[in-house]
Amino acid sequence: MSKVRTRFAPSPTGRMHVGNLRTALYAYLIAKHEGGDFILRIEDTDQERYVEGAVDIIYRTLKSTGLIHDEGPDKDGGVGPYVQSERQAQGIYLKYAKELIDKGEAYYCFCDQERLDSLKQTVAGKEISIYDKHCLSLSKEEIEANLAAGKPYVIRQNNPRTGTTTFEDEIYGDITVDNAELDDMILIKSDGYPTYNFANVVDDHLMGITHVVRGNEYLSSSPKYNRLYEAFGWEVPIYVHCPLITNEEHQKLSKRSGHSSYEDLLDQGFLTEAIINFVALLGWSPVDNQEIFSLEELVKVFDYHHMSKSPAVFDTVKLRWMNGEY
Ligand code: GLU
Ligand code: ZN
Repeated sequence: MSKVRTRFAPSPTGRMHVGNLRTALYAYLIAKHEGGDFILRIEDTDQERYVEGAVDIIYRTLKSTGLIHDEGPDKDGGVGPYVQSERQAQGIYLKYAKELIDKGEAYYCFCDQERLDSLKQTVAGKEISIYDKHCLSLSKEEIEANLAAGKPYVIRQNNPRTGTTTFEDEIYGDITVDNAELDDMILIKSDGYPTYNFANVVDDHLMGITHVVRGNEYLSSSPKYNRLYEAFGWEVPIYVHCPLITNEEHQKLSKRSGHSSYEDLLDQGFLTEAIINFVALLGWSPVDNQEIFSLEELVKVFDYHHMSKSPAVFDTVKLRWMNGEY
């Protein structure tokens, strides 16, 4: 088997909340348990969601919790962490989008907003828009003329409209979607930036990621990722989606609630060791009943096959107990 490589791929959109920290921790543990590599990649291609200072919070949090990434200044003389905006400037994503165009798996689309708006339809009270593949039938000459005239364009994936796509998740099992729902998703936007899904897949492949660990909010879009691997002919990584974290009232943890960010927890007097220990148990249980673990011990015992798909409850009493308060 090839060396295990995982990555933490945060988008710098705000604070490092507990869910992000858990994703980072699980990715770190899965890699280190097997003597593998843990990579850090900053996914900052969505300029609209970018929050100033958020990258520093990510670096600070990983450093302070001991989740030190490989291929970084602390380990390998400065390669990494990988930053997608820098990779975009190097033309990496466009190059791969063009590879898909050459294979007939993607195409230029020059449709203007008015035309796209006309494709919108309301189904069961929900507005949906499935692209009609209009630009797939443009001739080579038409495409070249449009490009030469500087007409704005996006690059879309040429997805099948019939059949189904199945993807496998280690925690949630097989998930199958109807291809009719997949749409011809945009890979490169009109500003030249890759879409989030596209950059994510290209980078996971180029970085040799074997296990993709992320929050379950990405579960439903995973078939899209699979279609991209198929289009490229790349090997699909193992997916490990982490369960939802809820508050004690079983509601999704909100970013606003005080206890949701790592630095807020530090401000409230919780020790890093207690936070890490607590976060590790939000969706994973050890085989025996041990409850107190150091990071080193977690590396030894963590096995993602014992992760749970049911929501994990953020139990403040348990955190206080791990913090040595009773
Ligand atoms: N960039 C995504 C986020 O911050 C992570 C997606 C992934 O890990 O694939 O939520
Ligand atoms: Zn078009």
